[in-house]
Amino acid sequence: MLRPPRTVAAATPLAVLLSLTATLVTATPAHAADPPAVEPRAGTDAPALVSGLSEAPAVGDPVAVARRHLRQGRYGIADVNTDLVPVDVVRDGSDETVRFEQRYQGIRVFGANYLVQMTREGDAHRVTGAGGRFLTELDVSTTPKFPERLALDVARSRAAARVGGDGDALTTTSGGLVVVPTGKGLLAWKVTVAGTDTRKHLPLLTDVYVNAGTGTPLFASDRIRTAAEGPIATTGTTVRDKTVPINAYQRADGRYELRDRTRWDGTTGEIVTYDAQGRDVARFQGTLPQDTPVVSSDVPTFTGGAAEIGAVDAHWGAGQVYEYYRRLGRDGLDGRGGSMVSVVNVTSYGQPYINAFWDGTKMVYGGGGEQYYSLASALDVVGHEMTHGVVEHTANLVYFGQSGAMNEGIADYFGNAIQVEAEGIDPAGPDAGLLGESLCRTGTPRQCAFRDLNDGRVAADDYVDATGRIDSAGVHLNSTIFSGALWDIREKLGAKADKIVLKALSEYMTPLDDFTDGRRAVLAAAVRSRLGARDLLVVARAFDTHGIRTGWEHRVATDHDVLLRGITDYYAQPDAAGERYVVTNSSADLTAPSAVYTGKVRGGKVERLSAPSELSSYDPVTDGRNAAWITYAETADGWKTQVWARPLDRSRPQRLVYEGDGDVLNTAIEGDTVAYSVWDSATGGYDLWVRKGDAAPVNVTPQAGIYSRAPSISKGRIAYIKLYLWEGGPRRMVITTRDLATGQETDLPAPQSPPNVIGLVIGPVLTGTSLFWLQDAQQDGLQGIMRANADGGSPVALTPDDATAPELLDMDATDTAVTYSVYPDLTVVTNDTLPKITQIPAKGGKAVRVTCNRGEQAQFAAVEGSRVIWIDGTAARVDLATRAHPRGICRAA
Ligand SMILES: [Zn+2]
Repeated sequence: MLRPPRTVAAATPLAVLLSLTATLVTATPAHAADPPAVEPRAGTDAPALVSGLSEAPAVGDPVAVARRHLRQGRYGIADVNTDLVPVDVVRDGSDETVRFEQRYQGIRVFGANYLVQMTREGDAHRVTGAGGRFLTELDVSTTPKFPERLALDVARSRAAARVGGDGDALTTTSGGLVVVPTGKGLLAWKVTVAGTDTRKHLPLLTDVYVNAGTGTPLFASDRIRTAAEGPIATTGTTVRDKTVPINAYQRADGRYELRDRTRWDGTTGEIVTYDAQGRDVARFQGTLPQDTPVVSSDVPTFTGGAAEIGAVDAHWGAGQVYEYYRRLGRDGLDGRGGSMVSVVNVTSYGQPYINAFWDGTKMVYGGGGEQYYSLASALDVVGHEMTHGVVEHTANLVYFGQSGAMNEGIADYFGNAIQVEAEGIDPAGPDAGLLGESLCRTGTPRQCAFRDLNDGRVAADDYVDATGRIDSAGVHLNSTIFSGALWDIREKLGAKADKIVLKALSEYMTPLDDFTDGRRAVLAAAVRSRLGARDLLVVARAFDTHGIRTGWEHRVATDHDVLLRGITDYYAQPDAAGERYVVTNSSADLTAPSAVYTGKVRGGKVERLSAPSELSSYDPVTDGRNAAWITYAETADGWKTQVWARPLDRSRPQRLVYEGDGDVLNTAIEGDTVAYSVWDSATGGYDLWVRKGDAAPVNVTPQAGIYSRAPSISKGRIAYIKLYLWEGGPRRMVITTRDLATGQETDLPAPQSPPNVIGLVIGPVLTGTSLFWLQDAQQDGLQGIMRANADGGSPVALTPDDATAPELLDMDATDTAVTYSVYPDLTVVTNDTLPKITQIPAKGGKAVRVTCNRGEQAQFAAVEGSRVIWIDGTAARVDLATRAHPRGICRAA
C-alpha cells in the first residue's frame, strides 16, 4: 500500500499520482569515501537515489552489470530480467549510465524509469549510484475489461468536449496497454487523438489514458510542444537579410537541396528541411505527407523564396543545435546520430501560422507576420524546440504539471545556452535570459520576449496551479521557476553548467519527476562531474533562491465555499439548477470508476446518484430535480453506450433512456424528457435524439447532411447546434430552437461571416425566458455572447463578436446573469492570466469577477440567480466550490 501524500503538488489527478510517488526526504549528495547515501521514495521500496556507492568492478555488458547490482534487496525489484527493459546506455568519458523502463507482467509502467550509474575501468564497470522511479507495490490485473474500441470512443468524445464540441474530424489511434503507477496500479489504454481544435485554431495531438477496467479517462498528455502560445498577430513574411553558412546537397539532376549530410558520416542521418508549400499545419502533426519536397534550388545559394519561408534559418539553426550537442558529447537529438527534420512554410486556415512546434519527430515552423519574423529566425527558439527532442530521448519528462514545466524549463535553458554560445552573448548580460527576444520586427527585446529566465519566480510564491485543460497543467506558466534556477547556475559557472544539466537529464531524471526530484538530479550530476564544494554550493543556492526544496507546495487563501473536496475525475464537469448540483468523481487513488454525485448548492451531504457499477459515468446534466448521464455496459449483444436518468431525490431507481452502438456526445434533461446526440457511424456525424418517458425516441435531425449536438432544454423547448453539410457545397452552422410539443423549429440566422468562412456558434443555453450562445463569425477564436428570446426572436449581441472580443472557454446562463471564463493569455505569466470566472447581467452590462482566487477556475455551472459552482484548482487540490454572489472587483495579484 502507498502511504497517503503529505503534500499535493498541483491540482490534477496526474499530480495526485505524482505526489503519491514523490520523495519526501532530501539529503545532500554523499562523497565517494562516505557510506552510501540512500534517499527513499514514498510508496515504493526502490530508493529515489542511492549515491556514493563504490562496488567492486565487474566485467561484462554494462546492462548485465547494472541488472546484477539491482538484484540487491534494497531495491525490492522482484525479477531484474523481466521487470526492467534497458532503453539506453549513456556514455560520458568514463561515466556510464544504463536507463531501464519498468515492465509489469510485460506491460510498460507509465513514467517508471530506473537508472544505474557506473564508472568504466578497462573492461570492467564499477557501480557508483542508482535511482529513479520503480514501483514495487504494483498489484493489478493485466486483462482489460473495458474494450479497446470503446476506449477510442471515450478518448475522442472527451477530447472533443475539451475543444468545444467540434470533434467530428478527430482521429484516434490505440497505443495499447500501460500500467499507470497510482496505488497498486491501474491498467489503462493509451489513445492518441489527433486533429484540430477548431475553436482555437491550434493543432491537437494528445495522448489520453483510459482506465481499461472502468472506462474512466484518467488524464491526457499533450504531444505538441509549442514555442509561443497565445496571440501573435498575423500576415506577411520575410526573414532578416543575414548571410549564414549552411550545408546543402546536390542531387543527381543537378538541383541543390537543404539536406546536410556532412556533419555525419552519411550512414545514420542528416539535417533536412522540407517545404510544406503553404499547406495547412494540421497535415504535419505527427506525419510528414509523402509528397512534401525538400527545399531545393537551381543554384548552390539559397536566397529569395527559400529565405522568405524561413528555410535557411531553420536549416542553419538545426546545424548550430547539432554542433552544440556534439560539443557536449551527444550525437544528435536522439544521441544516435538520427536525422534532424524541419518543415517550414505551413499555414493555418489559409493564414500565416505564427508559431512553431516539436511533434515528437520533427520541427514544424510557420512563417512570420506583420509584427514577428519566422520563429525559425531565432536561434534560442530553434534550440528550445529541438531540445524537446533531446528530452524525449533521455528523461522523457511527462508534458504535464511539474514534470512538464521541467521539460519546458530544460528546453528554455538549452535554447538560451545554444544562443549565447553561437552568438557570443554574455550569459550574465541583462537580455541573455530572454527567450524569443529577437523575433519582433519592432519593439525592444524585453517587450518582444515571451519568457525571461531571470524573472525571479519562486516556487512557493509563484507556482500557478492549473488543471490539465490549461497549458497541460501549467507547463509554460511555471517553466521559469525551474529554468530560472538552472540559468542562475549558468551565469555563475559558465558553460560547464551545460554539461551538468545534460548529465542530470540523461543520467538521473525520470519521466514523472517533480521540481524537487529535478533539484536532486542536478546536484547528483554536479557531484558526479566532480564539481568542487564551492561550485556545489552555487548549484544548491540556485534552487534555494527559486524556492525548489522538499515540501515547497503550500496552500493558499481562497474566498469560496467547498462543496466537494478532492475531485479526481480529470474531465469532471459540474451542472446545476435550482438548489442542486451534479458532478462525477472517482476515488483519491483513481481506482474507482467515476460515478455521479449530487448535493445541494448551499452545502451539506453529498449522495451518490448513479447505481454501483464497474464502469464510469460521464457528463451528468440536471434540471434541478432530475439528472441524466452517459455510461458504457457489456451486454449480451456486446459493448453498448447508454444514457441513464434518475430523480435527484433518489425516489426511483435509474432508468435506461438509450442503449446502442453509437457514442453519445452530450445530453440534456427536463422532467421525463431527455435529449442526447449520438454518433452515426454510417454518416460520420452526430444526430440529436429526444425521448419523453417510455415513448419511442425521435431523431430530430434525421436528414442526410444535417448533424446536430449540444442540446439544452427548458420549459418544453430545446435549443441545439445544427450543421448543414453537403458534398462540394456550402456548410452552415446555426442555433436552432424547437417546440417539443409541436415540433416547430426556428433556425436562427447564421453568423454574418466573410466569404469562404463558416461562422461558428457554440454551446446554446436555454433559460426560462431566454436563449444564450456564443458566436465567432470570423472563425478567429474570439467570441461574442448572444441572446435571443426562447423562441429565437429578437437576437442581440450582449458583447461584440469583433477583434476586441475575448477568447471564451465556456459560458452558462440563468435568467439573471451570463457567466463565462476566458482562455488564458499564455504569453504573460501571472496568476491573472489563468481563466477566472466572470459574470455580466443577462441583459448585458458591467462584468464582475466571481472569485478572486489564485489559480485556475475554468469549468463551472450557473445555478440560479448569480450563484455559480465551479471546479477550483487554487488550493493545490481540485475541489467543487461555490459562491452565492460574485465577489466583484479583485485587486491585481
Ligand atoms: Zn517548449
